[in-house]
Amino acid sequence: MDFSYDAQPARVVFRSGAALTATAGEAERLGLRRLLVLSGERGAATARAVADSLGDACAGVHTGARMHVPAEVADRAVALARSAGADGCVAVGGGSAIGLGKAIALRTGLPLIAVPTTYSGSEMTPVWGLTEHGAKRTGRDPAVLPRSVVYDPELTLDLPVPLSVTSGVNAVAHAVEALYAPDTSPLVALLAGEGVRAMAGALPAVAAAPRSAGARGRALYGAWLCGSCLGATTMGLHHKLCHVLGGTFGLPHAETHTVVLPYALAYNAPAAPEAVAAVAHALDTDDAPGALRELAGRLGAPRTLAELGLQERDLATAAAQAASTAYANPRPVTEDGVLALLRAAYEGRPPEPGIGGHRAPGN
Ligand code: NAD
Repeated sequence: MDFSYDAQPARVVFRSGAALTATAGEAERLGLRRLLVLSGERGAATARAVADSLGDACAGVHTGARMHVPAEVADRAVALARSAGADGCVAVGGGSAIGLGKAIALRTGLPLIAVPTTYSGSEMTPVWGLTEHGAKRTGRDPAVLPRSVVYDPELTLDLPVPLSVTSGVNAVAHAVEALYAPDTSPLVALLAGEGVRAMAGALPAVAAAPRSAGARGRALYGAWLCGSCLGATTMGLHHKLCHVLGGTFGLPHAETHTVVLPYALAYNAPAAPEAVAAVAHALDTDDAPGALRELAGRLGAPRTLAELGLQERDLATAAAQAASTAYANPRPVTEDGVLALLRAAYEGRPPEPGIGGHRAPGN
């Protein structure tokens, strides 16, 4: 064995009802007395309830979080945190609200408590993102890693089923790419296997009974493990492609992950047999890419990039962009190979292992 592993120092509290019963205690543990509570518009009621639970330790509520953290949204929130004299932030919501908390942490050093309401996993990573002039920049900085994460399955009971499914597959994508990352390790493999198993088992139960506390708890547990994989490793082709499709063509984040993942895994399969075997084992199948596609499709998720609004003429541009910079990936990323992957995902063809190579017909 040969690996290095950075344990991320976040504390996790996982309990039904924890958003309202544990967040104040987490703030106290961290010595924080003036917290700015952040959310998006739709999460405002939950954010206010969390703010109320903080009592005197709440310095204000800001519900201006937006997808992909536009720079002007971050500027406004930083100014608010400063004028409120905040000594920390509590982000209540999905990757967008947590992303805003991270942007504030990056600029001011203020510690962040995360109260996640989706399965994005951002709360377990030191990765920040900011969108300026239509381009999203990302980076890693330990200062943005939440100091404490409060997982409360009750907050996810009303997460709509379609969003639950795509957000859940988004989480699975973190685990899948962690399994073949250059900085993977035995611990990451354990987290990834258990994360994929938990999430894949939970999603059909969530779809069948969206308000089932048990199913929601299992999905959130899976999201935690998959998010930990994301925080510990370097992502490859799948995340790069989704970044291009979201950033350049405006495709929706979680849906894009859901459509692309089976094809990215199929593309990498010849170069990452152990990762494919681990995913197959977790899904109890002998066809990991096919099972991922089947799982999401059966639960009503989109199956093609065409459905998400991508135009056929954009495929070549997206392939060129994804292949234009070097990044870690088990199989070499060629423009032709990525184009074949994207075409298959555009049309929704079965994801064949080795896609874009000599075994993929018709390309
Ligand atoms: P999001 O936070 O924008 O939430 C998606 C939608 O779901 C929003 O409309 C939101 O209002 C709604 N929503 C959230 N929780 C809900 C709930 N419990 N009930 C009902 N509706 C709810 O999106 P997301 O998918 O959570 O995160 C995506 C964003 O996070 C992207 O910008 C992505 O790049 C980023 N991200 C970052 C990291 C990282 O490590 N930095 C990791 C994953 C995702």
